[in-house]
Amino acid sequence: SEFVKEEFSRGMLRIKTVEDILTPLKDCFMLPSSAVLDFSTMSEIMQSGYTRVPIYEEERSNIVEILYVKDLALVDPDDCTPMTTITKFYNHPLHFVFNDTKLDAMLEEFKKGNSHMAIVQKVNNEGEGDPFYEVLGLVTLEDVIEEIIKSE
Ligand code: ATP
Ligand code: ATP
Repeated sequence: SEFVKEEFSRGMLRIKTVEDILTPLKDCFMLPSSAVLDFSTMSEIMQSGYTRVPIYEEERSNIVEILYVKDLALVDPDDCTPMTTITKFYNHPLHFVFNDTKLDAMLEEFKKGNSHMAIVQKVNNEGEGDPFYEVLGLVTLEDVIEEIIKSE
């Protein structure tokens, strides 16, 4: 029945975690903070087709900022503007969530916040050294909605 189906999909959102649905770090389109917004970089961003581009420092696992494609509206590629000039100006908040965050909680976060993307991290305490935060990838509202639609 409809009721059973609805309860089932609600149940899935309570069981599944962001780790189950994230876009892995290796597949993320990101740019280094050292990038320059010249013609080639701006074309690369446009061709990626993504609206939000995480910006990392030194290593891809070290995401420090987020660039929205609409931030580029007034950027002239001939000026070769440093990426950091733009990201520091707009300074969009970065949201981090833990890998075990359930999808219903994630959906609530997205509804509350004004950002529809979160960076997923986990505490890595494998190995000899001290535990550290490991970035696994990113999750967007779209990923959560896709799960809801799939389970209907
Ligand atoms: P919008 O739909 O708001 O224009 P978008 O198409 O850039 O944004 P979403 O619709 O939020 O992105 O997500 C679509 C899929 O792309 C999701 O699976 C999401 O995880 C993934 N995604 C979003 N941004 C990136 C990115 N920078 N690199 C790789 N995958 C991304
Ligand atoms: P994004 O979140 O991908 O950056 P956005 O903020 O422009 O896109 P949406 O998040 O899709 O827009 O929509 C937010 C709200 O703004 C929705 O209620 C939508 O109907 C409304 N909206 C979007 N574009 C316009 C517009 N041109 N004029 C008036 N309302 C709009």
